[in-house]
Amino acid sequence: MRRGFILFLSLFLLTTKAFGFELILPKEKKSITTSNYAFFVGKAKSSECLSINGQSVYTASNGAFAHSVKLKEGENRVVLKTAYGLVIYKFYKTTPEVQPIPTEDFEPAKAYVNKDNTPLRSTPVDTGLNRISHLFGGTHIIVNGSKGSFYRVVLGKDKIAWIAKKDVTITSESFCPADFIDMDSERYKNAIIQTITFSKKLPYTIEDGEKEIIFRVYNPELSEESVYNLNIPKPEKYTYTVNLEDGKYTFKVRKLPEDIKDITVAVDAGHGGMEKGAVGCLGDEEKTINLKIAQQVADMLLDKGFNVVMTRECDADLPLQDRIDIATKNDADIFVSIHLNSIGDIPMDIHKNKGTSVYYFNNNAKQLAEVMEKEVTNSAGTRDDEVRTASFAVIRPTNYIGVLVEAAYMTNPMDSVLYRNDKWITKAAKGITNGIVRFCK
Ligand SMILES: [Zn+2]
Repeated sequence: MRRGFILFLSLFLLTTKAFGFELILPKEKKSITTSNYAFFVGKAKSSECLSINGQSVYTASNGAFAHSVKLKEGENRVVLKTAYGLVIYKFYKTTPEVQPIPTEDFEPAKAYVNKDNTPLRSTPVDTGLNRISHLFGGTHIIVNGSKGSFYRVVLGKDKIAWIAKKDVTITSESFCPADFIDMDSERYKNAIIQTITFSKKLPYTIEDGEKEIIFRVYNPELSEESVYNLNIPKPEKYTYTVNLEDGKYTFKVRKLPEDIKDITVAVDAGHGGMEKGAVGCLGDEEKTINLKIAQQVADMLLDKGFNVVMTRECDADLPLQDRIDIATKNDADIFVSIHLNSIGDIPMDIHKNKGTSVYYFNNNAKQLAEVMEKEVTNSAGTRDDEVRTASFAVIRPTNYIGVLVEAAYMTNPMDSVLYRNDKWITKAAKGITNGIVRFCK
């Protein structure tokens, strides 16, 4: 059985190879999909003669090519043609039916948060930039409605938020409203610390405003007007943390150290081990290129005088939370995650899905992302694929300034010429390093 399969597989590879090309995508000759586009990514033997559905396909000097075909509802036939013959791929496109989810109102009910680090969101969706804060386990909240897998949380007058149903337990226990106990503020050379203490855990939100960070603690059980605002002025480059112990919330806004020798940078090579990341036109694995760049970034930063910690130094599996923990335990001020991009479900335009983009989640990393985008595109000669916001786990913490660099596109034929070249790896590493140096100065 297994032998037969291997024989079949090698015959299949031989046949496409015999036609003058090898494909990374699609993986199957026949598939059912909900995507709007079918992507063809791979390597061709000859640059002139590959066409897809009659359209000639651009092939880079190393044979890499990438092409997309817009799919219509139902059966789609895509013909790949070379001078050696043609191969047919079939896609069956279906559109999943989306039922509108109703919002249900109910009488206010008491609930508590099950565990630490539970996202409180501005909308009832588990994605994107809608996190308002992360609540502590045991926080008492009031919910008065639901939508899909979320409860609506009452914070104050006209102020609501959403929390995943799985993260809370509704209870019939009677809670007493929290008592306000104490408030304090301390100012240090490099940090401002404000504390506020209650008799129990309450929900809070964080707004990173123009000139200050506003922490709001809500006590809706007492009254809808019961909100405590702590406005902390923020320095130009900063990190912040929220801690809770025995009802005492400690909000700390810290200034980035001015001297490079006092700054710690966590360098994170994306993916690793079983998790290969994106696969390039010629079969290169993203995890390997990420590590090559990351090692050089770490060396260059050490040379400049920074303290450096690498999340992984070899080809190993490393969960996202471990990467965050390594940075946090080492008191990292800056976190840079190194990746190469791939195509999503968007029209595949080789001139667009190309180049460098830098992502950030928190406002405190916007400036670093912008500087890094400039420095990497300058140094590595890549297209400016813009600075964007995204909710990637490793750049969500606020105890460091976190950015994620997509140095180039694994699936772009022109970029594949770059990332396969060791000189380019060094140029990309230099760009990332320069970005950090310029930001810190
Ligand atoms: Zn990646």
